[in-house]
Amino acid sequence: MSFKDIRGHDGVISILKGTIKKGRLPNAYIFTGQDGIGKRLTALGLAKALNCQDISDDMDACGRCPSCKRIEKGVHPDTLIVEPEGGQILLEQVRAIEEFLSFKAYEGGMKVVVIDDAEKLNPSSANALLKTLEEPPAGSLLILISSIPDILPATVVSRCHRVNFSPLPADDVREILSRRFDNEKARLLSLLSEGRPGLVIDGVQMEERERFFNELRGIEGLELEPWKERDAMDMWFKNAYCLMRDIVVYKATGDEKLLINFDKIAYIKAMADRCGLHQFLDIANELDRITGLLRFNLNKSITLCYAGLLLKTGECVDS
Ligand SMILES: [Zn+2]
Repeated sequence: MSFKDIRGHDGVISILKGTIKKGRLPNAYIFTGQDGIGKRLTALGLAKALNCQDISDDMDACGRCPSCKRIEKGVHPDTLIVEPEGGQILLEQVRAIEEFLSFKAYEGGMKVVVIDDAEKLNPSSANALLKTLEEPPAGSLLILISSIPDILPATVVSRCHRVNFSPLPADDVREILSRRFDNEKARLLSLLSEGRPGLVIDGVQMEERERFFNELRGIEGLELEPWKERDAMDMWFKNAYCLMRDIVVYKATGDEKLLINFDKIAYIKAMADRCGLHQFLDIANELDRITGLLRFNLNKSITLCYAGLLLKTGECVDS
């Protein structure tokens, strides 16, 4: 994908293009913003622009030349993409970056290293990367990508030029999704995405949402399966909160068109009849509170049992 194919980040892209044009690239960037909004796509667009053999006057990659195609496929000799292995970015991966940067660009462009989920650098790998950031080889660019840059050492972040990415406007999300899905599904996914198309494109979130609703229908018996993975737990709470939001909106307005889970209207109506508006608002607040606590390694079974009870009875209890 070249810059022209990326939606919703015109301001960021315009600044990046201006920097390329003036030859004023920093040694390192850190792209920050929530997951699934296009940071990595933009990093690859930048790598392409810096290596394209037929760059446009406004500094965008052609997307067709051998260099652009190889970056797209992840096989360009001057572009290295680093991702966590087993939940961490390891020292040996940072050593591989050093070695990669120690050679000049094979094809006359720039050496670009993209470090995705950079917050997963462990202390020794962050320390090793710091040396590269302090003395970067000429003709090289590092792009760190992180949705939680605050947990990276300040010494690392301070050596990178920070670029913030915001969630996308709904129309842009819808356009991106309509390239892949029919209208109805694109609409539903864009509502669920919260401006982050990368979150819904792979279908995992949809599967988790279906499972959430299926489990909820059987909630009278509380036959809920504790989550195996942290991501699934996050998604469960997101779905629960989103359902409460829909119920509150429906109770307050009676307008089906304002719902996110518009395909679950029958279920939402049935739930809405069970309690008053304020009770649902209390549940939504309680779910929000638990969501804030999820990062503290809560016991999954107890958390699920409590949250399930919350949805079942419509009452908050002291915890
Ligand atoms: Zn090209």
